[in-house]
Amino acid sequence: MIEIDGSVGEGGGQILRTSLALSMCTGQPFALRRIRAGRAKPGLMRQHLTCVNAATEVSGAEVHGAALNSQSLHFTPGAVRAGDYAFNVGTAGSCTLVLQTLWPALLMADGPSRLKLGGGTHNPMAPPFHFLERSYAPLLRKLGAEVELRLRRLGFYPAGGGEIEATILPAQDRLEPFDLTDRGADGEGYAECFAPALARSIARRELQQVGASLGWNADQLRQTPARQNEGPGNAMLVTLPYEHLTEVFTAFGEKGVSAEQVAQEVVRQVREHRASAAALGPHLADQWALPLALAVHQRGGAATFTCTALTPHATTNFDVIERFLPVRFTKTSRADGFTVMVSAR
Ligand code: AMP
Repeated sequence: MIEIDGSVGEGGGQILRTSLALSMCTGQPFALRRIRAGRAKPGLMRQHLTCVNAATEVSGAEVHGAALNSQSLHFTPGAVRAGDYAFNVGTAGSCTLVLQTLWPALLMADGPSRLKLGGGTHNPMAPPFHFLERSYAPLLRKLGAEVELRLRRLGFYPAGGGEIEATILPAQDRLEPFDLTDRGADGEGYAECFAPALARSIARRELQQVGASLGWNADQLRQTPARQNEGPGNAMLVTLPYEHLTEVFTAFGEKGVSAEQVAQEVVRQVREHRASAAALGPHLADQWALPLALAVHQRGGAATFTCTALTPHATTNFDVIERFLPVRFTKTSRADGFTVMVSAR
């Protein structure tokens, strides 16, 4: 039984999700104490409980402590079963984090799986759907893990109601690690504003501001068509395609924050990224660690990536991964960020 203290490092929900994911992948049970002790409302919230319940169903696990607000959990996985599953967070909590929890395990299954997930699709503190689609999924494909993602309906806080679908094909023991140490040639970036059920002027102002700040032309500023039954909500996305990877940066609108401030927040992230030549941005760095470690574990040897920053999310995730897989993360700083090597122990 692997014992994990949920209060260490970043102290958030990622410790739970990485533990669930790698427990299912490796068959090792774990006990997690002090769940999300670093957060204002500790314990399992609705979206975390959905992750636990989804992991339980997919792996036929035996579980104790799976209840709202629970601060400890025992999880003993069975065999992961490929299949068709539907999970709904039931609030505006992020359904992309449910996908992140199940994804690695379903890659190890012996057949294709289809997931239908409901909840928030664009939440602060979670990977927005478009980040998974454009940044994360293409890197997984390069590792040898085929996946298709579809956005059926946008979901924002507080109404939720979003829906995504994922088809995950088995990769089992065929993952191939690779180095990701530079971005390669620049592609043309673009900005999109999702603002369903809000005044059209909000999207216009945000796009104008991003365009003026980054010197972008009208083709790079995309108004997205409004669909029925979505929103209200506001996410401003900038997508930066490079030869070797794509980055997606996001800022969220909220009451009391002007359209221009939302635009400036995403511009700040873009400028920070461009100030470095390291391959991965801060979010991609923490999320890339798990699939890369799985691939290194399968093949042996080592793989390296560079990143613009190492957040507490990333370093905490490295620590949790090292508890489940015989791999080691070695971090070295460089002038414009960090180099991280994942090696088999
Ligand atoms: P936690 O705060 O522990 O629940 O973990 C949040 C997860 O969401 C981490 O893996 C973050 O990297 C990820 N995340 C948060 N914001 C973004 C964003 N704007 N784009 C991509 N991933 C994000």
